[in-house]
Amino acid sequence: MESVSPQPAGPTGELPTGELLTLVQNIVLISEVPPGSALTAAQSAGDQCMWCTVTDPAALNRVEGMGTWWPPRTCAPCLSARIAKVHTYLLWAWHTEECEPCTDGRRCGAAIPLGEAHANALETATGSRRVVCVRCHQPDDVLAQGLRPHRWLGEAAAYHSYQHGLKCLRVGEGFMRVL
Ligand SMILES: [Zn+2]
Ligand SMILES: [Zn+2]
Ligand SMILES: [Zn+2]
Repeated sequence: MESVSPQPAGPTGELPTGELLTLVQNIVLISEVPPGSALTAAQSAGDQCMWCTVTDPAALNRVEGMGTWWPPRTCAPCLSARIAKVHTYLLWAWHTEECEPCTDGRRCGAAIPLGEAHANALETATGSRRVVCVRCHQPDDVLAQGLRPHRWLGEAAAYHSYQHGLKCLRVGEGFMRVL
């Protein structure tokens, strides 16, 4: 990790530091690291970045927080991009959970730059702005009307997903699935 300098992530360019960085890194480990079944042989062996095509050994780092026995490696730009993706998600999610218009399915003036910052970070990290709504299971642009972060507690961990707001509930009914 010493060689990693995360890119500006928040809407005002601030980086996560201290406890927030630790929290973000933990979420990256849980929700961003691909499952073994999604890795190529070279990625599983740690000979290729688990998120991209980089194979230069000098550019590949162990992922802090994963056991030393765990071979997959990442390049610094990919790790920074994943940190920025999770960081901007959290900033948007925290706002949405506390803001009345936003919990109501709208996107208030304060939420617009938070959503845009996350959309940019998402695209940088994954190459796409498409996300899947946990209610209707339909893919959509992350800034589609009503779409917002949705954090929920599962049996083993907290999940960081997305859902359509009122739009999805209105379409929903027989369409909705219980998670
Ligand atoms: Zn990479
Ligand atoms: Zn708001
Ligand atoms: Zn939906």
